[in-house]
Amino acid sequence: MLADLHLHTLASDGAWTAQELVLAAAARGLNLISVTDHDSVDANDEALHYGALHGVGVVRGTELSAQWRGVSVHIVGLNLHAQCPPLDAALVEVREMRRIRALQIADALSQVGIAGAYYGARKYASADDRIARTHFARYLVETGHCSHTAEVFTRYMKPGKPGYVPTEWMSIERAVGLICDAGGTAVLAHPARYDLQWHGGIEALLRAFVDAGGRAIEVICAAHSPADWSVYAAYCRRFDLRASLGTDFHSPRESRLAVGDLPKLPSSVTPVWHDWSLSTRA
Ligand code: AMP
Ligand code: MN
Ligand code: MN
Ligand code: MN
Repeated sequence: MLADLHLHTLASDGAWTAQELVLAAAARGLNLISVTDHDSVDANDEALHYGALHGVGVVRGTELSAQWRGVSVHIVGLNLHAQCPPLDAALVEVREMRRIRALQIADALSQVGIAGAYYGARKYASADDRIARTHFARYLVETGHCSHTAEVFTRYMKPGKPGYVPTEWMSIERAVGLICDAGGTAVLAHPARYDLQWHGGIEALLRAFVDAGGRAIEVICAAHSPADWSVYAAYCRRFDLRASLGTDFHSPRESRLAVGDLPKLPSSVTPVWHDWSLSTRA
């Protein structure tokens, strides 16, 4: 199975449509993809439509903004049902938080002399309630305040920096519960990215995630080094979790990995799709 189960479109902070992602996946010979937009499921129908046309298996996905012990944590939901009113209602709620946060971020940036950031970020987003820090990053690069995205995060958009606005995202328990209610598999996204040294460490997070009904973790992703692959494969075995993989592709300029540019999962772990019923298998 050649899979990429973490991809973004214009429905969140990606630069491509779902159709463009499917075409890239088909060109690379992938069997299975999922579009996992931040706090949205809107691009899944388009991905399924083009997946069927181009012979690429597609499962519905999302990436929920959540928090645990005050640390922002992303929970990917994979293989979701087409309809899930509680999830849809929660997504509307969380996107409203995004809309308000964007106004607050722009305000915070204006305090440090960066004007026009709301509309500057908004023009890269598809709606007011889809604005992500990534969109602000694009504006700060465009206006010459920083030379690239990574610099924007280091100087402005990380916790403690002038453009960072702390947000009360939903708990990981709620995020996992919503994904389970939608018939999906809850996956802890890019676990190596969380700074948990003052919060009980990754093992405490994994325990809470499993207790909430979480079933898998990303082992191979853009944020992980080859050393991390082994570390998180070992956590899969220890916590009886399945393993997922994805590039977290946003755009060719911003992403380290192209669509599907991933090694296979190690044979020592069970892939997240192990007990899904899929029409495309290889
Ligand atoms: P948000 O959900 O609006 O808080 O934005 C989170 C998004 O910002 C992530 O999904 C990434 O796309 C991007 N991001 C976070 N940290 C970094 C970083 N250090 N460098 C580049 N992009 C980042
Ligand atoms: Mn993103
Ligand atoms: Mn993420
Ligand atoms: Mn992502």
